[in-house]
Amino acid sequence: MVKYWTKLTSLEVDTLDRSNTIVVLPVGSTEQNGSHLPLETDTKIVEKIVKEAAVSIQNELTILILPAFWVGYSPHHMDFAGSITLNTETYINVIYEICQSVIHHGFRKVVIINGHGGNTNHIKVAASKIGVETDSYVLAASYWELMQEEIQKYTQEKTIGHAGEAETSLQLYLSPDLVNENEVATAKEIKENDFLPPSSWLFQNFSALTKKGYLGQPSRGNKELGKILFNTAVKKVADLFLDFNKQIDNH
Ligand SMILES: [Zn+2]
Repeated sequence: MVKYWTKLTSLEVDTLDRSNTIVVLPVGSTEQNGSHLPLETDTKIVEKIVKEAAVSIQNELTILILPAFWVGYSPHHMDFAGSITLNTETYINVIYEICQSVIHHGFRKVVIINGHGGNTNHIKVAASKIGVETDSYVLAASYWELMQEEIQKYTQEKTIGHAGEAETSLQLYLSPDLVNENEVATAKEIKENDFLPPSSWLFQNFSALTKKGYLGQPSRGNKELGKILFNTAVKKVADLFLDFNKQIDNH
C-alpha cells in the first residue's frame, strides 16, 4: 500500500499499523542546474523515484511518503542565481526534527532517500543522531549511490555529475517540458579536473569548477538513457525498502 502523509487525516495516521509501515522522506534541493534545467530538478527526480518505487512493491509493504523536502545543503551553488541553501547545522537539525516527529507518532522505520549531492553526508549524520537517541531505525541513502554500476555501464560520463549527461537524461524522460533544448544544444562540454579518488571528500565552490553551472556534456542526455536510469533507480530504491524491512524485522 502507498499512502501520502499529508493527504491523510490525523485519525487515519493514528490507525496505521506502525510495525508494517515504512515512512519515507525524499530530500532534494532548490539549486542551479545550468541554464538548461530548472531549480527543482533534484527534488522532482527523487520524488518521482520514491513514488514509483513505493508503487512497485505496494503489495508487499505499506509505504507512507512524506512531502519531498525542497531545500538542501547547497552553499557551493550560491554564486548562481536562484539557489537556496541551509547551513550544515540547520540542515541536519531540520532532517533530524522531521524524523523525530515521525518517530514521536510511533513509527520506527524511516528511510531518507536523497537526490542532491550536497546532502549526502548530512543525511547520514542526522540518521546517526536519531539512531543514538532512540530505538527507531533511520536509513539514509542517495539514489545514485545505489546504482554506481549501472551509471558506469550506461553513461559515457560514468558519474551522476551535475546537470550533465545523467541528470539531463532523467529530466528529459520525466519532465521534457522543463528542459531548455536550445541551451542543451549549444552547451559545450565542461570537464572537471578531478585528480582525487571519489572516496575522498573536498568541498569545492561550483563557480570555481564551472562558469556555466553544469559539469559534463548536457547534449549527451537523451530520453532513452533517462528511462534506463530512472527504472534502475526505482528498482534499487524498492529493493532497499524491502531489504531494510527484512533487516529490522530480523533484529
Ligand atoms: Zn543537486
